[in-house]
Amino acid sequence: MARLDTFPVSFKVAGRAILIVGGDDEALAKARLAVKTSARVRVFAETVEADFSGLEIEMVERPVEAADFADAALVFIADHGAEGERAHALAKVAGVPVNEVDVPEKCDFYTPAIIDRAPISIAISSEGAAPVLARLVRAQIEALLSPRLGAIARLAGAMRDKVSAALADGGARRRYYEALVTSAAVEAAVDAGQGEAEADRLLDAHAAAESGEGVVWLIGAGPGAEDLLTLRAQRRLQEADVIVHDQLVPAAVIEMGRRDAERISVGKAKGHHSFSQAQINTLIVRLAREGKKVARLKSGDPMVFGRAGEEVAALRKAGIAYSIVPGVTSALAAAADTATPVTLRKVSSGFVFATAHGADNTDLAHWASLAQSGLTLGLYMGKSIAATVAGDLLAHGLSPVTPVGIVVNAGRADKALYSGTVGAMAQDAIDFADGPAIIFIGHAVASGDWAQAAEIAPDVKRTA
Ligand code: SAH
Repeated sequence: MARLDTFPVSFKVAGRAILIVGGDDEALAKARLAVKTSARVRVFAETVEADFSGLEIEMVERPVEAADFADAALVFIADHGAEGERAHALAKVAGVPVNEVDVPEKCDFYTPAIIDRAPISIAISSEGAAPVLARLVRAQIEALLSPRLGAIARLAGAMRDKVSAALADGGARRRYYEALVTSAAVEAAVDAGQGEAEADRLLDAHAAAESGEGVVWLIGAGPGAEDLLTLRAQRRLQEADVIVHDQLVPAAVIEMGRRDAERISVGKAKGHHSFSQAQINTLIVRLAREGKKVARLKSGDPMVFGRAGEEVAALRKAGIAYSIVPGVTSALAAAADTATPVTLRKVSSGFVFATAHGADNTDLAHWASLAQSGLTLGLYMGKSIAATVAGDLLAHGLSPVTPVGIVVNAGRADKALYSGTVGAMAQDAIDFADGPAIIFIGHAVASGDWAQAAEIAPDVKRTA
């Protein structure tokens, strides 16, 4: 088995200095790292080539001297000439660890890629072998961590005495801290500068119940590509004890949850009503009452045709904590896929996202006039009734030459595009690819990029 040649430690620099020798871009890069700490950062350079402005450093425009090492914790040498060598020798005498930038054999220590959520820090090192890989790993870990992690860690630190007083049992204290650092309410309160008040409130609740509280997060999974999910959605999925998901949410997204999280599919794909809405409401309330963290995962955005209104009403009635994580709704994914501006200066002053399924005559008359006046319609749940809807819009006065664009499987690799006019769509000739679809209607649609689209024409039958 490969062994580490370096030992990761957290080196104390508070109240001391970090010295940087050199004035070029390499020196600047190290200065940027060094200013993340509370150490004094002193840059020694006779000629300053890089732009150090905006960094809290002391620029010393003379050669470094033995006395400068007296309070130095670390030194970075970015000068690879005689001056650098002299500085290295002085550091050795003073016993200060040296990093010669990009010269591993002359380094006493390496600088890892750092994730800084002070007081929490995470260092990723490849012992100099693959810094690019270390940076990629850092990006992946960054994506998992709340930007408020540091503030929450400080908050947890500040609560220590109060927690010891309020909760005698070690297990109860641990449960409190777990709740504190993962609570959506605390996170929101920290943002609003109310972190301590919320932490106190949570402590009262724990002292009363001496157990964790359940919560439900309504999470938008986006249109189906695993990288069209928000970072917050990803984090919540990893915190959840149970993931309750709809049929349309792809497996790759559900997989993002913790390995040991329970997963419950509640169906709701067209034609497969495995759970009624009432049963789903009851389920999420019951799970939260058991003290579980429930991720209620919905395709697209949870507030758009997701029946979130009913679920939220049930949670409020039951007094259960909840929060909502938005997602990319499929109509906007379809707009992105086809570079279609749903609003366009002088053409479309707005957009209407509506469901074609269940629309009545009054709805259709209303939309026809909106589209006629230039607004872009984005119709959900309309694939199987596309021709009927188009016919009705025509009957209500929409011009037959109004552009139409349809995206099946928006945001996914297997998307299929169709474009034409309302007049052509009314003639029932489209042999759609399998999958959910968004139907755009309106003049702005013509400004999109539909070059890859199959033409909607009465005589064209095709699968994409
Ligand atoms: N909350 C979802 C909508 C759920 S209703 C959202 O915000 O996107 C289900 C309808 O959404 C489908 O009938 C279809 O019209 C649309 N839809 C969902 N995913 C889609 C996708 N990847 N591509 C196109 N349409 C999609």
